Amino acid sequence: MATFEHNFFYLCPHCKGHLRLANEIVFLTKTNTGLSGLVLLNPKIGDYNVIVDPKLQYAPGEHVNFICPICYENLDAKERGANLAHVIRVDREGKESQVYFSKIVGEKCTYKVEDGKVESYGDDANNYKDLF
Ligand SMILES: [Zn+2]
Repeated sequence: MATFEHNFFYLCPHCKGHLRLANEIVFLTKTNTGLSGLVLLNPKIGDYNVIVDPKLQYAPGEHVNFICPICYENLDAKERGANLAHVIRVDREGKESQVYFSKIVGEKCTYKVEDGKVESYGDDANNYKDLF
């Protein structure tokens, strides 16, 4: 059974715009080969169900740039290398954590940093754990 948690949300680190609508986080994406379109990610950390416009046909291993659909800033987590994107998560008590996830198609890893404590999720979590 699906549970819908509407009591936490996600913000763009640049404009602080809300990226979550209903039960999805909305991103504009663009590949280095010029493909572009909307991608919806599940707001539950560790859930890798992704909704992609089928016309995009992103290939496994492809590097996808995640862009804020509100201010159009690239969400690259530059301080964590070239392969991770960064958003801010705010929980029901208003507490902020930093969430990093892979920009590589098919790579399943997410890192949540709160009060200096790192939690990692996904089958590929070892890939970037040295960056935290
Ligand atoms: Zn923004």
